[in-house]
Amino acid sequence: MGGITLEDVVILSAHGAKKIVSEAEELLKKAISENGENQKISFPDTAYYLPLSYALFGFEIKTLKDIYLSLNTVISIINKKQSEPLKYVLDNGVATLLAEEIITAIRYLYNQEPQPDCEGFFSDTILRTLGIQLVDGRLSGFAAILGAAPDNKTAVEIVRELQKRQILVFLGSSVNGKSIIDQLKQENVEMGWETYVVPYGRDTISLIYPLNWAIRAALTFGGIKPGDTEQIIKYCKERIFAFAIALGALDEEKVATGAGAINVGIPIIADTDIPEIPQVLVKQLDHKKIVQTAVDVRGLKVRVREVDIPVPFSSAFEGERVRKEQTFVEFGSKYSKSFELLITKNLDEVEDGKIELIGPDIDQMGYTLDSPELPFAMPLGIIVEVAGKKMQKDYESIVERQIHHYLNFAMGIFHMGQRDQNWIRISKQAFKSGFRLKHLGKILHFGLHEHFPALIDKLQIKIITDEHIVNELLKEARKIYEERDERIAGLTDEAVDTFYSCTLCQSYAPNHVCVITPEKLGLCGAYNWFDGKVAYEINPKGMNQPIPKGRCIDPIKGEWEGVNEFVYKYSNRAVERFCNYSIMEYPTTSCGCFECIIAIIPECNGFMVVNRGYTGMTPVGMTFSTLAGSVGGGNQTPGFLGVGRLYLLSKKFLVPEGGLKRIVWMTKELKEFLGDKLKKRCEEIGEPDLVDKIADETITTDAAQLLEYLTKVNHPALSLPPLI
Ligand code: SF4
Ligand code: ZN
Repeated sequence: MGGITLEDVVILSAHGAKKIVSEAEELLKKAISENGENQKISFPDTAYYLPLSYALFGFEIKTLKDIYLSLNTVISIINKKQSEPLKYVLDNGVATLLAEEIITAIRYLYNQEPQPDCEGFFSDTILRTLGIQLVDGRLSGFAAILGAAPDNKTAVEIVRELQKRQILVFLGSSVNGKSIIDQLKQENVEMGWETYVVPYGRDTISLIYPLNWAIRAALTFGGIKPGDTEQIIKYCKERIFAFAIALGALDEEKVATGAGAINVGIPIIADTDIPEIPQVLVKQLDHKKIVQTAVDVRGLKVRVREVDIPVPFSSAFEGERVRKEQTFVEFGSKYSKSFELLITKNLDEVEDGKIELIGPDIDQMGYTLDSPELPFAMPLGIIVEVAGKKMQKDYESIVERQIHHYLNFAMGIFHMGQRDQNWIRISKQAFKSGFRLKHLGKILHFGLHEHFPALIDKLQIKIITDEHIVNELLKEARKIYEERDERIAGLTDEAVDTFYSCTLCQSYAPNHVCVITPEKLGLCGAYNWFDGKVAYEINPKGMNQPIPKGRCIDPIKGEWEGVNEFVYKYSNRAVERFCNYSIMEYPTTSCGCFECIIAIIPECNGFMVVNRGYTGMTPVGMTFSTLAGSVGGGNQTPGFLGVGRLYLLSKKFLVPEGGLKRIVWMTKELKEFLGDKLKKRCEEIGEPDLVDKIADETITTDAAQLLEYLTKVNHPALSLPPLI
C-alpha cells in the first residue's frame, strides 16, 4: 500500500470531521422530532454528563436541546479559518470527538449501545477502580486498539504483549468490516475487565468511549475544573498513560478521530505508512515491534516479569477466573482441606529457592485431561518459610497476603481467600502447558522477593498434598492465625504514638492524604496501620511516612497537633485540620478509591453508607458514582466521607456524631459483607437489634419512606441530638 502524505491527512481529516459532524446533526434532528427537545439524555452511571463537552467547555448537557451547546461549538470549530495545516487537522479532530460523543449519547437513547459483546460507555465506577490500579502499579497504562490485525495470530500476539506489560487494552473499530474484537473471539481470548482486554465497539465512532474515560480521569483524580481545557489536556498527557494503536488502512473517520485523540494528549502508533510527528504520530510497520514502539513513544515504565513457569505471568491475569469447566484440579473451599501460611525462620534454617513437594503431584492422582470426572480435588498446604535480617514476626500476615496476588498473576491459576479459607484452581490449559505444583513455589519465590526486596533475604516453600500431614499442619497453622488476630485486634489508637500516612493517591488527587491509625484503615481498604508501618520500614522514602501524633487536641473527634502539621505540609497546604473520627467537622479528605461513601441524610438525622459496586439508587437521590463525583478529588466535604469498609466496625467510627447509631441506611451487600462482626459491634454498643433497624435497598431508597421506617422501628438516630 502506498503511503499517505500530510496533504492527504489534511484532506482526510476535514472530510471525516464533516461526515461525522453532519451525522450528529442529522441524528439530533431526528431524535428531537421523535422525542421532543426536552427529552433527557445521558450516558449510564456517570456524574459527568457528556464527559468530553463537560470537561472541555463545562457544558452540562441533560436534554436533547442542551446538545446544541456542544454541536454549535463543533460547527464553529470546523468552519473556523485556519491557515496552519497541523492546527487545522487537530481542530477537525476535536470537532469529530465531540460529534462522536453526541452520536453515541443519542444511540444510548435508542438502546443501540452498547454493541454486541462490547462494553460501550465506561461508568464512573470503572473509572475509579482503574484509577487505583494505575496508582498502585497493577496497571502501567492503557492502549486503545482500532482496526484489525492482518491475521488472527498477530492480533493475539499484540494483545498478549500488552497484557504482559500490565497495559489495559481497549479494543474496537474495524478495517474492511473486520474487527480485532472478532479476531480475538475466534481465537478464544478471554475478554473483559478481569483480563484487561475490553472491547468498546466495532465502529470508529465508539473510540470516543476510551477517550471520554481518559478525560474524566482529569476531573475525578486531577481535581481540575471543567472548562479548564489546557490543564485537562496537560493532565491527560502527563498522568494518563494512554496511547492508541491503529491497525490496518486509515480512512477519513479514523484520521479525523485520531487527530482528536492526539489533540487530547494521546499519541498514535500506526502500522501503515503515514507522515510522522515525533512523539505524537509514529509508524511501526513491524507488528512484532509495535507494542515496544508504543511503550517507548509514551514513555511507559513497564516491567515484564520473567518467571520460570510454563504459562504467561502478569498482573493482567490477576482478575482472570478459571471456570469449573476449565478446571483440571482444585484445592480448598468446600472441596478439600487447604491452607497457606508464611512464617519467619532464622537465616541458617532457610535455603533460598528450595521447593519441596510432600505428597503426590497433580499428574500422579490418576486423572488425565480426558477423565470424565474433572475437576477433581486434592488437599493442599502451602508453607512459605522466610528469613531476613529485617524480617519480623509482625510482618508475616502482610507478606502472606501477597500469596494471593502472585498466584493469580499466572495465566490459568486462580486463587481466592486467605489462610485456611483459600481456594485454588489450576486450569486444564495450564496443566496441558506443563504446570505442576512446584510452579506454585516458583511463583512465590519470585513474587515475594520482588515485592519485599529489603525484607526477605531468603525463602523456601513446602507444598504438601499428603492428606494426613495437611491435617496435622492445619492445626498448627490455625493456632498461628489466632495469635496474629489477637495481636492486631487488641491495638488501639491510644496505644501507639505514631500513625502512618499514605499518599499513594496523590498522583491522582494531589492534595489527598490518608492518615492510617490502628483503628482506622486507609479509605481504599487495602492498607491498615501494620501495612503502613511495614511499608515505611521497607522503604523509608516511600509513600507511607510515620506521623508522630503529638499533643491530643480532642480525643473524641480524633484531632492531634502532629497530624494537623503533617497533613498541612503533605496536602500542599490545602488542608489545615483533620478530625480523624468525624464526618461533620474537618473530616479527612477523600481521593477517589474509597470502598464506601458515607453521606448525611438530614431529614433522618443520620447517615447512609453505600459501597462501590452497588449501582442502584440511594436515599440521598444519588447513585454511588454520582456521589463519588462530588466527594472525591482530595477534598474535605463535611457530611460526606469516603471510608474503607472495615472502618464501620471500628470503635472509632464517627465517634463525635454517635457512631453506628447514626447509620440509618446501608446496602444489603455491605450488611452481608460485615455480617456477624457488625452484629457483634451493635451488641457492644447496647443496640442488639440495630442491624435490622438499619434500612437497605430492599426496604426503601426513598428518604421520606426511610423516615417512616425508622420511626416504625424506633431507630436510635431519631433520638440523638440534631446533626445540623
Ligand atoms: Fe490511596 Fe489512601 Fe489507599 Fe493510600 S491508603 S492507596 S492514599 S486510598
Ligand atoms: Zn485513592
